[in-house]
This record gives sequence, C-alpha cells and structure tokens, in this order.
Amino acid sequence: MKVIRDLNMWKSIRDNKLSTEKNLGFVPTMGNLHAGHQSLIKRARQENSIVVLSIFINPTQFNNNDDLQQYPKSIADDLKLARNSGVDYVLLPQEHALYPDGFRYQVSETVFSRKLCGKHRPGHFTGVLTVILKLLQLVRPSHAYFGEKDRQQLQLIQGMVEAFFIDTKIVACPTIRDENGLALSSRNRRLSAEQYRSASQFPQLLANTKNKDCAEIRRELEQRGFVVDYVQEWDGYRYGAVTIGSVRLIDNWEVTSS
Ligand code: AMP
Repeated sequence: MKVIRDLNMWKSIRDNKLSTEKNLGFVPTMGNLHAGHQSLIKRARQENSIVVLSIFINPTQFNNNDDLQQYPKSIADDLKLARNSGVDYVLLPQEHALYPDGFRYQVSETVFSRKLCGKHRPGHFTGVLTVILKLLQLVRPSHAYFGEKDRQQLQLIQGMVEAFFIDTKIVACPTIRDENGLALSSRNRRLSAEQYRSASQFPQLLANTKNKDCAEIRRELEQRGFVVDYVQEWDGYRYGAVTIGSVRLIDNWEVTSS
C-alpha cells in the first residue's frame, strides 16, 4: 500500500502507472475509519483491480467550527485498517493543495440540498459536492463507493455525476450498524457510555413500522431527551437527525406500510 500526501505525485502515478486502469475503485472518507468504511473498501476490493482510499477532513462542509475541531482523528489506526483491507493507494491531501482556489469555485445543488440536513446545516452539501468533484477529477475512478447511512449525500452525489456527465459509477453500500441498531459513525466515539446506550433508541424509533407519523416519532424522541433537528419522509425513506449532548446523529430507513 502506498500512502501519498503530494497530489502532484498522485497525478503522475494516475497518468503513468495507472493510465490504462479500467477498474479503479475509490472510497472517499474523512478518516477515523470503522466497520462502515471498511464495508465500502471491501466492496471496492471485490469489484476493482485497484482500490484508492482518500482521508481528508473537509473544512468546507462543516458549518460548525467546534464540530470541525473535535472531529476524531486516528491516522495510524486508519492506515492499519486500510492495509489490512487491501487498499492499494491512500491519498492524504492537504487543504491548500485541494483548494488552490481558496473555495472560490463551488458546486451547489439548489433543490434537494436545501432540505433535511441541508436546511439545518446551510452550505454543508455545497462543501461535500465541491470536494467530491475535486476528488473524482483527481482520481478518475471507474467506481466510487458511498454509504446509504448518508443517503441524502449519496443522492446528491449521484445527481451531480449525472448532471456533469462524470464517467464514474456511484455504488451505494448498505448502512453498517452496531448490535443495537445504531449506525456506525466516527462521531459516535464522542458519546459518553450513557449517551451511547440511549442513542440506540434513535434508530429503533425512526425505523418503527407501526404506522406512526413523523410528528409522533419526533415527540417520542424528544420525550427520551433527544434534541430533534428533523424527522421527515422523502421519496420512500424516513430521514432523521438528532443531537445528544454535542453529538449529531443521522439515519434513514425505507418506509414500509406494514
Ligand atoms: P465519512 O468518513 O463519515 O465522510 O464517511 C465516508 C463514507 O463512509 C461515506 O460514503 C459514508 O456514507 C460511509 N459510511 C460512514 N458510516 C457508514 C456506515 N455506518 N455504514 C455504511 N457506510 C458508512
């Protein structure tokens, strides 16, 4: 496995050694890797001859500076997990190298990005779409892997790829959860033991199929001490975002009529 910090070095490898690569799988992340990320890497490994992982905590997608500062970092463990999972190249770009324009150029979507998480985190998806476009241009993958845990992000990226005729297949990967149903997330590590125990009520209530409406689910979450950003159905899925302490959790479930 090769760890690359210099984007010019990466460009030269992509243009020379990997110039004829037809099956190159790409997994973009912000690091602090867990079994959720690992499932994306495994899928990429199965479907491609070369697997590229990026680790970059993208400042432009954080609308809260504390959240950015506190974002967990564990680069040594991340590299171990990447190596054990069969990654070929790890890209660790620096902010000034990825944003030579100082974020003057931005990709924004004007409809869906303003709903759900976008409504509560203004500018978030513009930061996400911009960094993903930059990374897709640099890596030029045949396949790129994203988690359904961040379904709104996944759909916006899929839409961007279609809108700009980008020649990459976006592969959606199922949400990996702990034994109580809580979706794995790097932010979970900031929960206290007690907060972690009560956090599993979030997916349990959101997934509830006993024909409860969103307002009822919201009330039940609030009764259990969650600060609720939203519980909302959209295009066949029920989305939710809550905060416990200072930790924001998101999740989504397909709506079933049973
Ligand atoms: P992040 O490092 O949080 O930006 O996530 C990088 C990628 O991993 C995104 O495509 C996420 O949707 C995906 N991911 C994060 N957590 C999970 C999970 N629990 N299950 C599946 N995919 C995940």
